[in-house]
Amino acid sequence: MVEITRCALRIHADPKNRRLRTPRSLDTSSEEVFEVAQSWMKDCKCGDFWKEPGERFYPKRLLDLEQLRGANGITDIDSLTILSEHGDVERKKVYLIETDEVFVQRSIGATELSMKVWDSKKKNKSVRKEQKNHRYVTLSHCWGKPKSVQGQLRLDETTKERFKREGIELRELPKTFRDAILFACRLDKVGFIWIDSMCIIQPTESYSNRSKESVKDWLEQSRTMDQIYRGSFLNISATAAVDGDQGLFFSRRPEYLWEDEINVNYSGTNLFGSEKIGSTERDQLTRCTVIDVSFWDELVENAAVNRRGWVLQERLMAPRVLHFCRDQIAWECAEFEDAEGHPEMNLTLRAKLGSIVDEGRLKDLTPEAGRTLRNNRLNGFPDPDKDMTDLYIYELWKHIVEVYSRTQLTVSSDKLIALSGIARRFCEGNSKLFTLPNKYIAGLWSQNLESQLLWQVNELFRDGVFENPARRDATRAPSFSWASIDTPHGVTYPDVTDYKPEETSERRTRAHNQPKELMLEVLKHRIKLSDEDNKFGMVVQGRLLLKPRYLRRIELRRLHPPLRVPYSWRLKPDASTSEVVQTTSKAARPLENANLYLDAPESDVDIFFDDAELYCMPVAYGERTVRESSRYLYCLLLKLEKHVEFDPEANASNKRRVGLSPPTQYPMFRRIGITKLSNHLDKDAQNALMSEDNKLEICLD
Ligand SMILES: [Zn+2]
Repeated sequence: MVEITRCALRIHADPKNRRLRTPRSLDTSSEEVFEVAQSWMKDCKCGDFWKEPGERFYPKRLLDLEQLRGANGITDIDSLTILSEHGDVERKKVYLIETDEVFVQRSIGATELSMKVWDSKKKNKSVRKEQKNHRYVTLSHCWGKPKSVQGQLRLDETTKERFKREGIELRELPKTFRDAILFACRLDKVGFIWIDSMCIIQPTESYSNRSKESVKDWLEQSRTMDQIYRGSFLNISATAAVDGDQGLFFSRRPEYLWEDEINVNYSGTNLFGSEKIGSTERDQLTRCTVIDVSFWDELVENAAVNRRGWVLQERLMAPRVLHFCRDQIAWECAEFEDAEGHPEMNLTLRAKLGSIVDEGRLKDLTPEAGRTLRNNRLNGFPDPDKDMTDLYIYELWKHIVEVYSRTQLTVSSDKLIALSGIARRFCEGNSKLFTLPNKYIAGLWSQNLESQLLWQVNELFRDGVFENPARRDATRAPSFSWASIDTPHGVTYPDVTDYKPEETSERRTRAHNQPKELMLEVLKHRIKLSDEDNKFGMVVQGRLLLKPRYLRRIELRRLHPPLRVPYSWRLKPDASTSEVVQTTSKAARPLENANLYLDAPESDVDIFFDDAELYCMPVAYGERTVRESSRYLYCLLLKLEKHVEFDPEANASNKRRVGLSPPTQYPMFRRIGITKLSNHLDKDAQNALMSEDNKLEICLD
């Protein structure tokens, strides 16, 4: 590969044996496109568990496609077009089934599935002949704006019986559902589809009025969402559709997808490195394809459906995903990625800061994929943490949180739930990723927790100013968790490390002068779950008990143009700090520090009140994956709230305390942001901050 800005040249290794798969059809609903999808499914072995009856999992509810599959012409695209044009297909029906009611349990190892069906004439259930089409598929889609969703048919207590007994006519469903259903009917042995709003009982009350009973089914199903997607034969992704009315398919200009080819004469250049490609004059004219390395981002990563929070989990958990994009289809499974218009291309290449890097596949959750991500960040520097257990697993988690934090959720409290299946995959089950036991703490992990507190909300530099429109929802996660923040630009998850000092000779000689890398200890942590059965789900309260080595009162200032940074902080001048400041040569007043990143200044309004008690707490030197001289002292900015006991269940245990001393009260703080002091430029500020030790243990909520 040779880089030309965001484009690369791909050399044709063997021009005679090239796969010719140039798209020609004018619509992604065509036979040609269907055949490309079929060929991917044939090449992929990720859905092979469907051959093992013992490994089959069925969701609680499914839409049964059997009657539709039996209808004439449904599996043939030409007849289907004719049927659609005459409206005949619109009256065909799918039925809701509850799998524990209708699947006849046969002995384990049975290759066919039998079903009980409701016979409306006899008004009882009879056993239908064996179900040959025993596979189910899932759908990833955008619900669309609340207004367009309002009138949509959905499963609730009032529609359930009707969906089961009378069925649902296709014309009642949004176009995306209809397209997905008809596509699923054409797949080998697929008899069912799972669609969230049709298979989970939707609460009828508005969000704020929901009773515990009305969300019971939703909570139960959301706990198994990862299993539902993991068990599917295929996840159909309406990747480009912004709402239910757009459907899976789009018309297109196929010639726009054709890759450009050029002849490159590389004689006299080192364009292809030292590698010699032939030695004769004739061979030096090399046929190359020009490829745009940013196309996968535009086609898939930034597509409408992948901006939805829930979809990341669906995409990662499903064994394979077929993306219906704007002008072509694309494929993702644990083994390979492909796109109709870019056969033979290495789709994991991305343009990053002027160079082309291999990011690996998002769906590849293996230590090897974590190692690739790590190496990209190290950028040639030696790894200070190379012996740390689970180092590459944390890299995967960092990548997932960073992608997830840029997505949006309709319901704010879903933040942790919509990621819970992925979190579970990291630390539970046969294929868990962490080798050490690790407890989930509202989006962070208990091992090496100190370093994980150093996440940062990304700002956008636009029109000469830094912009941070992030909002905090304090009801769904503690302030020390990134999950409390909604931001369009996402967060940067920190380098996860155990902060063991590097074993370099330089460090050993300086060790007694240098402060240790980590200046904070998490003594205890406590998470109170909203749903006791889902330890990866919503939390009512999260609290840490900390022992910081330094903790200094500061004041925060808003700055105004022409200054390009919006805020600064300085140590609050008082008797003890003024003495420190006067010893510095630069100024008689405390040093201003403007390298700070407030988490959500627009919603954390109380941090600007005159009586707000703000503090700066140095945590560690970072980032570890850069040259030591380029590192900063990372400090959390905190706001003092009140005094609390550490144990949130203190009331329950009060009885046992009768006659004992009252429980200890700790000052309770809230995280408001992070600041960085350069090792190179901010030495005075670092020294001032660390001029006196802190004795207190504190709570962070
Ligand atoms: Zn595969």
